Amino acid sequence: MTVELTHLVEAVAEHYRNIASQPVVRPVDREEIVDHLTRCYGGFQEPLPLDDLISDVAYMLGRWGVQVTHPRYFGLFCPGVTLAGVAGDTLAAAFNPQLAAWSHAPAANEIERYTLDFLTRAIGFDPEQTSAHFTSGGTEANLTAVLVALQHLRPEQREGGVAALLRRPTIYISAGGHHSFEKIAQITGLGRSALRMVGIDRRLRLSVPRLERTIHADRARGLAPLMVVATAGATSTGAIDLLPELARLCRREGIWLHVDAAWGGGALLSPQLRVHLKGIEQADSVTWDAHKWLSVPMGAGMFFCRHRRSVERAFAVETGYMPPDAPGAVEPYTTSVQWSRRFIGLKLFMTLAELGADGYAAQVERQAKLGELLRSELRSAGWCIENDTPLPVVCFTHPEVPPERLPAIVQALQGEGSYWISTAELSNGRPVLRACITSFRTNESDVKGLVAALDAWRSVVQA
Ligand SMILES: *Cc1c(COP(=O)(O)O)cnc(C)c1O
Repeated sequence: MTVELTHLVEAVAEHYRNIASQPVVRPVDREEIVDHLTRCYGGFQEPLPLDDLISDVAYMLGRWGVQVTHPRYFGLFCPGVTLAGVAGDTLAAAFNPQLAAWSHAPAANEIERYTLDFLTRAIGFDPEQTSAHFTSGGTEANLTAVLVALQHLRPEQREGGVAALLRRPTIYISAGGHHSFEKIAQITGLGRSALRMVGIDRRLRLSVPRLERTIHADRARGLAPLMVVATAGATSTGAIDLLPELARLCRREGIWLHVDAAWGGGALLSPQLRVHLKGIEQADSVTWDAHKWLSVPMGAGMFFCRHRRSVERAFAVETGYMPPDAPGAVEPYTTSVQWSRRFIGLKLFMTLAELGADGYAAQVERQAKLGELLRSELRSAGWCIENDTPLPVVCFTHPEVPPERLPAIVQALQGEGSYWISTAELSNGRPVLRACITSFRTNESDVKGLVAALDAWRSVVQA
């Protein structure tokens, strides 16, 4: 037993030690993986020693997959992860506390509450008035927002479902907003056409005048605007919608304001950066993922809502088999989508405790500064910056590279295994290259190296 766990710790430590000197991605062939599985696991006919298993799984994960914890992964909001976060997830797995009912896991539930209260204050909500919980990710948090907004504004939906709604609820989101809302519109029974994509302004933010016109036109057609989703840190471009203006509009119109800050929420921990999310404190609900800019292992989303009673009504249930409610405690299974649940918050609690609030702020600010460095290095090398955000995600093109050749640069970098960046489309359909500082282990020379590699491949692709 002891020997096997030592082996586990060594496998994790080795990953941390070696990752930076490994390729960020290697060519992969599905057959190679399937062959390996068939050869080594033979239909699970023979039991295997755990030590060997740990080594082999670490080999497979390192060999066949994009290394998202790599300092030269400039990718899709999948972070490098803190060791405290890994420790938290490991302890959560080993003790396996069941958080559904408070009385089954008082310590775990109070640790989550304590952590969420800290982040609630970072948003600018009052912890006394706020309902907050951990979710599997941002998608579940966004789904929760729609369910609670329906309960709050259209309570007849609780018993009667969407069939009880005489006027159809609609949701408004910028064309750069997250596509999870398409699934959510369908899952909630509102239907995908209830999701209204609104155009953006020149800075790629939800256009408030267009939004207002769309809302009025929809009302005139007999629709019932339910929710505006403001994105604070759009997935492709990092654009931050105009939160104070949207809050004013939503108040005037009696519409729920949900702020999707899945990635951008990280800025709230920094005294320097939080100004960019001003207005978030006026939202009705907020999505914030710890497994993005807060650098803890997946999946760790969070949902915050100022209307505690509506959250309780949305998820209340009574059973004959769950333990009785603990007086004064929050019962997770009656205030959220999940029932049985993992101790999601521990990895965030431990990271916060290890870094301290100032240390976390410094980590986030350092990544934002590297984003600035990336922008300035790209500009000096003749690239054009195509997005406008204070957050560390950069969309760029080159005047001498035809747009259809941009993917060839990405393929070349990935083919070498030296850097991982992606392509994206601006909401007007224009292709761009996209690089995001997703790892707290990325440093200045990684950024400068990326720009040098981009420049080298640009000449090849152009020629
Ligand atoms: C990543 C992301 C989501 C989805 O969150 P998951 O944790 O992947 O489910 C939603 N909104 C935005 C803006 C995101 O960046």
